[in-house]
Amino acid sequence: MRILVTGGCGFIGSALVLHLVQDIGHEVLTLDAMTYAANPISLQPLADDPRHRLEQADICDPASVHALYADFRPEAVMHLAAESHVDRSITDPGAFVRTNVIGTQVMLDGARTHWESLSGEAKATFRFLHVSTDEVYGSLPPDAFFTEESRYDPRSPYSASKAASDHLARAWHETYGLPVLVTNCSNNYGPRHFPEKLIPLMILAALEGKPLPVYGDGLNERDWIHVEDHARGLVAVLERGRLGETYLLGGRSVRNNLEVVKGLCAAFDRLRPENGPHERLITFVADRPGHDRRYAIDPGKAEAEVGWRPTKVFEEALTETVRWYLDNEAWWRPIREGRYSGERLGLAGKS
Ligand code: NAD
Repeated sequence: MRILVTGGCGFIGSALVLHLVQDIGHEVLTLDAMTYAANPISLQPLADDPRHRLEQADICDPASVHALYADFRPEAVMHLAAESHVDRSITDPGAFVRTNVIGTQVMLDGARTHWESLSGEAKATFRFLHVSTDEVYGSLPPDAFFTEESRYDPRSPYSASKAASDHLARAWHETYGLPVLVTNCSNNYGPRHFPEKLIPLMILAALEGKPLPVYGDGLNERDWIHVEDHARGLVAVLERGRLGETYLLGGRSVRNNLEVVKGLCAAFDRLRPENGPHERLITFVADRPGHDRRYAIDPGKAEAEVGWRPTKVFEEALTETVRWYLDNEAWWRPIREGRYSGERLGLAGKS
C-alpha cells in the first residue's frame, strides 16, 4: 500500500514510518517541513530503502501538497504534522493556528481533489486518518475517563488548534464524503522523543545530575502510551476503523507527574547506581498557566472494534526508554547542544 505520512520526522511520525515500512512492508512518502522538532536521524534506518521517500514540504503550502498528492497517488494518508508543544503554544499561538488548522485544511483539500480523481476499488478503499490528542477534551475530575462522547473543551492554544483540526477533518467527511477517520491519543513516551517534553527532558537532566523540575505539586495526572503501541493503534484504525468515526487510543497507564519522575529516578538508580539516589534531584517549579489537572482515556471502543490494545507495561517501558537515551547519545546530543537546549525553557515540558 502507498501511504503518505505527514510529520514523519517527528517523534510519533518516525515510529509510525519505521513500523509501516520495516514491520509491514508498505511504501511510504514522508512529508515534513523539518521544523526544530524534526530529527532526520530518526529515519536513517530507511536511508537506502526503496520503499521510503522523504520530501521536505510545508503542509500549509497548497501547491507543494497538491503536487505531492498527484505525484505519489497515495492509497491512504496518515496526517501527523503539527506544532505539538503546549508551552510553545502559549508564547507563539499563531504558529499553532497556521500549521494545525490551515495545514490540516490544505491536507484535507489535497486529499479531496486526489480522492475525487479516483474510481472503483481505489476510491472505495482510500482513507484519510487524522491524528489528534486527548487534550481537546480539557481536564477531567478525579477517576473519570474520556470517551469518544466527551465534550470538546480545549484550554491551551495547542489543544484549541488541534480541536479545530478535528472538526475540519469530520466536516470534510460530512460535507464532501471524504473517507476520514480520527484518533485522539494520550501522552506518548518512548525512543526519539524531542528533549523538551517531560520524559526526555527529565532523562537528560538526570543524566547530567541537574535538577528535575516538576510543575506545581506534581499531581497532574496523564495516561501514558508507548509510541510503538500508538503506531500499531493507528494502523489498526486505518485498516479496520469505521469511516467518519473517532477512536481514542490510550495506554491504560494513568500516572501523576511525580510518579513518572520517581519512576525515571528508579530506572536511573538501577542503570546508574553510582550517581543515585536520583530522587534528590527533584525540584518543584511554578505551575504552567491553565495546566489541566487530569487526562485519562478509556480506549474500550478501539479495543472492541479494531482489535488493538496497548501492550507495554509502563514502568518496564520507562526503563527501556531511559536505556535508549543512554545508548543513543548521537541522536540527542546535537539537539541538546546546538539547535535546542531544554534548559532555556526552564520547565518540564508537555505533561
Ligand atoms: P513532533 O513535534 O515530534 O513532530 C511534528 C512533526 O511535524 C515534525 O517532524 C515537524 O517538522 C513536522 N511539521 C511541523 N510543522 C509542519 C508543517 N507546517 N509542514 C510539514 N511538517 C510539519 O510531534 P509528535 O509528538 O510526534 O506528534 C505528532 C502528532 O500526534 C501531532 O499531530 C500531535 O498533535 C499528535 N499527538 C501527540 C501526542 C504526544 O504525546 N506527543 C499525543 C497525542 C497526539
